[in-house]
Amino acid sequence: MLGSETGKDPAISLRNSFILSLLCVASCTGVPMSERSTHSHRFELVVLGIAQDGGLPHLGCQKVCCVEARKNRRQLTPAALGIIDHVTGHSVLIEATPAIESQLALFRSVTETDEIPRHPIDAVLITHAHIGHYTGLIHFGREVASTQAIPLHVSERMASFLTHNGPWSQLVQLDQVHPTVFIPGTPFSPIDGISVTAFAVPHRDEFSDTVAFRIDGPNRTVLFCPDIDRFRGTLLEELIEGVDVAYLDATFYDGRELPGRDLSEIPHPPMVVTMERLGVLARETPGRFRFIHLNHTNPALREKEIQREVEKRGFRIAEEGERIGL
Ligand SMILES: [Zn+2]
Ligand SMILES: [Zn+2]
Repeated sequence: MLGSETGKDPAISLRNSFILSLLCVASCTGVPMSERSTHSHRFELVVLGIAQDGGLPHLGCQKVCCVEARKNRRQLTPAALGIIDHVTGHSVLIEATPAIESQLALFRSVTETDEIPRHPIDAVLITHAHIGHYTGLIHFGREVASTQAIPLHVSERMASFLTHNGPWSQLVQLDQVHPTVFIPGTPFSPIDGISVTAFAVPHRDEFSDTVAFRIDGPNRTVLFCPDIDRFRGTLLEELIEGVDVAYLDATFYDGRELPGRDLSEIPHPPMVVTMERLGVLARETPGRFRFIHLNHTNPALREKEIQREVEKRGFRIAEEGERIGL
């Protein structure tokens, strides 16, 4: 069931509107209009981007992957998620990517929420300081949205990096963003009703450390682990424990994207290795494991045969605009 909640299938939409009308009959009477939610879940998570930091097409790439994407005007933005509370209207952005404007526009259109000028979001969570994951913050500054004290949930090292390095330090000095440090392993609430726990993961940590987020809503738990060098020991099993849907690093498919490199030396767990490792679980619960953060070269972005194989094995490739009721 979870695997089909993409919001794109007309049959599902029809079914959802039926459930919604039932829910509304059952629960809306007597509730003030302003507090009513017309959605089947109070909280919804929306995928806003699925690509690696550089998106698709990728600056400077003259391979078939990006030449064709340019020709067909196909664009994919870096991995990011949004969470909306349909009752209060409060929203959270996970990752401030270079495509932040179009991603928030997608978020608003999917969740049917009006854009609030100069207050684009209520909280931002960031996994680490690589360009696809945090540089969208630049749009919160004086030259663009000039936001006011947006809580920025980051690790201690990430907070220190932003506070001590321009241009990010100006956002902090002017209180356009307000770094709020989380402790890995200790849950925090970016908005009422949603609990998030950060987990430290191994990655190329030049400017900050790196985390994955576990997001707990009233009904479902989602893991967001877009960028990791490798799932050492039992880390993968620990991260997915009790998780209904896991978005996992799919930067590379099987190493063919980097000819001449030994698979074991490539940072990022290749999709084929992750599928091998989670194969039994994926067959038992199709749609539980979804791939995100795909590099422009990843053949799973365009080769139909690979896409069919991934689906057949119970996995999914995340899609922009797909939604999960939390
Ligand atoms: Zn490319
Ligand atoms: Zn990274």
